[in-house]
Parts: sequence; structure tokens; C-alpha cells
Amino acid sequence: MNKQSNRIPNRVIQAGLLALAAGACVQAHAAGEAKNVIFFLGDGMGPTTVTATRIYKVGEAGRLTMESLKRTARIKTYSNDAQTTDSAPSMSAYMTGVKMNNEVISMSADTKASDATGKGYVSGADSTCPANNGTPAVTLLELAKAAGKSVGAVTTTRVTHATPAATYSHICHRDGENQIAAQGAPGNTLYNAALKDGLDVLLGGGPRHYLPQGTTGSKRTDTTDLTAQFQTAGYTYVTTGTALTAVNPATTTKLLGLFNLDHMNYELDRKKNNVDEPSLADMTEKAMRVLQKNGKGYFLMVEGGRIDHALHGTNAKRALEDAGAFDEAIKRALSIADLSNTLIVVTADHDHTMTINGYPRKGNPILGVSNDIKTGQPQLAADGLPYTTLVFGNGGTTRKATRDNVTSVDTAADDYLQEVGVQLGTPGSETHGGGDVMLFSSGPGSTPLKGTLDNTKVFGVVKTAMGL
Ligand SMILES: [Zn+2]
Repeated sequence: MNKQSNRIPNRVIQAGLLALAAGACVQAHAAGEAKNVIFFLGDGMGPTTVTATRIYKVGEAGRLTMESLKRTARIKTYSNDAQTTDSAPSMSAYMTGVKMNNEVISMSADTKASDATGKGYVSGADSTCPANNGTPAVTLLELAKAAGKSVGAVTTTRVTHATPAATYSHICHRDGENQIAAQGAPGNTLYNAALKDGLDVLLGGGPRHYLPQGTTGSKRTDTTDLTAQFQTAGYTYVTTGTALTAVNPATTTKLLGLFNLDHMNYELDRKKNNVDEPSLADMTEKAMRVLQKNGKGYFLMVEGGRIDHALHGTNAKRALEDAGAFDEAIKRALSIADLSNTLIVVTADHDHTMTINGYPRKGNPILGVSNDIKTGQPQLAADGLPYTTLVFGNGGTTRKATRDNVTSVDTAADDYLQEVGVQLGTPGSETHGGGDVMLFSSGPGSTPLKGTLDNTKVFGVVKTAMGL
């Protein structure tokens, strides 16, 4: 073979480059190429919580798994009637593309959560929407199911809580958790025939809305046993982490797991007390392995639901631990998913009022007292007392005549509650924040998820990515 014959003609190189370019276009994914979607929602996980979790888990210069995703956007979360949203309309906006009123779950924009008298619904767990009060808005999960995909929802809260509820139910008030439970059960034909055989996988807490009246802890007001209804329809039903581990995904196509009468434990307590509840990562993995057997793909929603609850309680440590567990679930999912055809979205429904104060030294514990960069000594407020780096804009704790001297307090203790600005009284709950949140994404169809977007826009992007 002579040298000449080894040479590749220019036109061949050019043709090759063109082919590569065409291939790159294919790699960039056309609409409809997201066979699978995993939608991660960190409840209340505002930008400050992400930063604080990063410092807590991997240090200032480290990177959380969610931050390794290719694309980032800033999301506006206001609802139809409020500057500061609650989880119901915000998750509903992601799932349906409709801005609705606070407390409303996946209904039309005109749906009232309350009427002029303050009651547009029957209050409590049996809430029902009165006639002529809005119409259901179809969700991404329902659209995916109608297209033949398998669908699931995984959360650390009750599975009937606002965020998971917004993926599969329609109701004028989020408190109607018995109704929400019924809507997600097999045999439901209330709004969408596609979901009549139920969600394929549903994992989280809250059997109190599934077990018949009279059962310990039940909140139902009838004798319906929804857990029996699921099992009759062919579901495997588990109630412990050990039982979930034993579920063989190869032979399981329908899975219901309810692990605590109420919300599941905070991650900190789950570990500390060796509670037999699965981690969010373990639930995510099991859900994916069950759902991914469907050749048409799947839609899975995963919520780190109790980040929000710890922040409401101004207990930063539990919030950061739960946000860390949420990030672990994302890491697990990325290690299992076929990233060539799976759209990964990670976002939050709203912010909280937690903030990072002072000019603490790099390396100072994020749960610690803000200290001086040069001396390392605590920075002092006008009253001559030090303060923690993390504090809240408002909260339920009672104001003391004199602030505690936090240098003599273990501010990293599990039950330490950060100081708050506006006192909302006891018992009270820190409010959500009205600021924008972040959205991280990667995979087919994620290209438009950049810049500043309304939460409703995300619906259309994910829908198009799935080709629906
Ligand atoms: Zn909340």
C-alpha cells in the first residue's frame, strides 16, 4: 500500500463532517424524543436552600448533582391570585400549563378555592368542589398515560399532598385528600379515562386517606378501603422499606407503597432512628425499574416534599438534610436512566424566607454563627450579640426580650430553630417566599428550558419533548 492510497480525499472528509453535523442534530433531539421524563420537585427548595445545601454537603466550591445538569433557568412562581404561591397552583402550573388560584389542584384558572363567604368547598379531607366551580385541567402525567406510557409519583409527603396530587387529581381545594386518594386509585373514571387503571407506581406516605374509617389513624369518613381496591386491581402493596427492597421490579407492573400513616420521616430522623422507611433514592430507583419495562416509556414525578416542612418550622438542619436526600435521589436516577432518551427536570415550586447573613469565613459551618473573615470571631449585631449565618424572614417562634447568646448554643443541633425577623406567633409557621426559583435540566427537549420562564411554560416544553 503506497502513501497515496492512505490519503483521504477532501470531499470525503467534508461528507464525513456533514454526516457528523447531521448526527449532532439527531443527538440534539427533535421534538418527541423524550421517551421518558423524570420531573424532580424540591418542595420549597429556593435558591438559598440550594446554596446552603451545597455548602453543608460538599462545601462552597463543590457541586450538587442537580447542579451538574446541563441547563439552568429561572422560574417565576406567582399564582393566579397571589404574589406568593402555595404548592398546589405552582405544581399544577408545571403539570397543566394553567395559572390557578392558591390551594387549587389542576383545575381551570376560574376555579375558586373559596367563595365570597370564605367557603367554596366542603372543608376537610372530604372537600368537594361545588358545581360550576371550574373544570379539570389535564396533566402531563395523564397525557403520558393516554399515550401508552407508564406513569408514577414518588414523594416523602402523603401521596395525597398538594405536589403529588397535582400530577393526577383535580379538585378546588388541596385539603380534600380523601377525594384526591380516590382519584388516583384504579377504577377512577371521574376525569380522565386514561387513568382508570390508576398510577402504575405510587410511593410515599399517607395511608390515613386510604384506610377505612375506624382503622387506627384513618381520616376517611366512609368504609372504603382503597388499599384493598389497589390490591384487587393487581397492585403489589408494601408498607416498609424492607418490603420495598424485596419487590422484584422484573415481575411487578403495579406498585403501591404507603410507608407512614402521615408524611414519611424527615431524612435526619429516618437515619437517626433506623426507621424502616425507604430513602427517596431507593423509592426513585424502584419506581424507575418498574416503569422502564414499558417500551413506550414513562413519566415519573419525584418530590423531596419535606424540605418545605422543615423550612416552615425554621429548622434549617432538617431542611438541608432532606434537600441532600433529594439530591441523592437525582444522582441515583442519573445512574440508572438512559440519558439519551430521558428528559430530566429538577425544580422547586416556591421559595422560603431563609437567607444567608453576614460575611462568614469560607469553610465556616453553614449551620454555625457568622464569623469574621480575618479573626474568625463571631460577628456582632447592634445588641452586641452574635447571630447565625442562616436566619428566616419570618416564623412561628416567639420573640424574646433578649436574644439568646448563640455562642453558648449548639446551633448545629438537630432541633435548633434559627432566629426569625417577623414573629407570626405561636403556633405559627414560616411562610413561603415569593422569589423566583431555579430549574435544572438535561436530555432531549430541554433546550428551551433557559432564561427566565413562567412556571406554566415548563408544561409546554415537557409536553413537546414527549411528542404529546
Ligand atoms: Zn409549604
